[in-house]
Amino acid sequence: MDQGVCSVKIGFIGLGIMGRPMAGHLVKAGHDVTGYDLAPVDFGGAFAASVAEAVRDAEVVITMLPADPQVLAVFPEISAHAPADALYIDFSTITPQTSQQVASQWKRALDAPVSGGEKGAVDGVLSIMVGGAAEDFEAATPIFEAVGRTFKLVGGPGAGQYVKAANQLVVGGTYALVAEAIVMMEAAGVDAKAGLDVLAGGLAASRILEIKRDSMLARDFTPGFRIDLHHKDMGIILDAARGAEVAIPMGALTAQLIASARAQGYGSLDHSALLKVIEGLSR
Ligand code: NAD
Repeated sequence: MDQGVCSVKIGFIGLGIMGRPMAGHLVKAGHDVTGYDLAPVDFGGAFAASVAEAVRDAEVVITMLPADPQVLAVFPEISAHAPADALYIDFSTITPQTSQQVASQWKRALDAPVSGGEKGAVDGVLSIMVGGAAEDFEAATPIFEAVGRTFKLVGGPGAGQYVKAANQLVVGGTYALVAEAIVMMEAAGVDAKAGLDVLAGGLAASRILEIKRDSMLARDFTPGFRIDLHHKDMGIILDAARGAEVAIPMGALTAQLIASARAQGYGSLDHSALLKVIEGLSR
């Protein structure tokens, strides 16, 4: 255990692409982590036989689940079996409304969706946007420090999910534009790899260009972050914009391109597979 880090008893539900490395970092930081997923996962801590077993006696309960239905299925188990004063941190990306519903039924709840992708989770450098009470955010700091680098309280319950929606809007749109740049350069017969290297050093630079340009050029769409999950996020984004009574035309277009990727059977590929849709437009 790190010097000065106080060990916390954590129940961690959802040990998938993101949850598994995040739970691993919590173990490495010296916390006592009991995990649960639908199938056994080796993450470095104890694996429980049920949600109930994972959260019993937990000081902090964490979920990292795909979407609203899974959070809504697991939350009643948590509320039935976790200690009433446990801090509940939901790292999943879900609708602000579901986060608010959960917060209305649990005394200490934070919505804390993350950004940074699988690499950010593996490296322990996620960005975390948090909604909830200031004292709960403060209590969660050792947890956020173990899995992330940038974490901010952005408002009350559900606020983290609104910021995550903004994040996914920018990420989806950026993928679409990087895909168009690749298709255009390749069709024009220029060296697309050299071209993207130059783009990554100028005003067009982005984290996506930095870490994804080689795999996109190689047409390696191993997830990462699945198209299915980004499709879910585009629904949250469009709904949030409608609720806020604003127009997001670029977001609406990106949502249609991602819907096309899914309809064409690319749902389980990485979201960089948006390139396949953009390519198909000019074939
Ligand atoms: P994933 O599908 O790899 O992992 C989710 C895990 O939840 C799976 O292992 C699944 O078995 C488990 N699960 C589902 N229902 C369960 C239940 N009832 N009880 C216990 N476990 C259950 O998904 P992921 O990529 O890790 O994403 C998780 C969340 O994080 C999503 O909301 C996603 O939008 C968000 N997210 C993902 C990324 C990424 O790059 N993958 C980045 C940022 C945010």
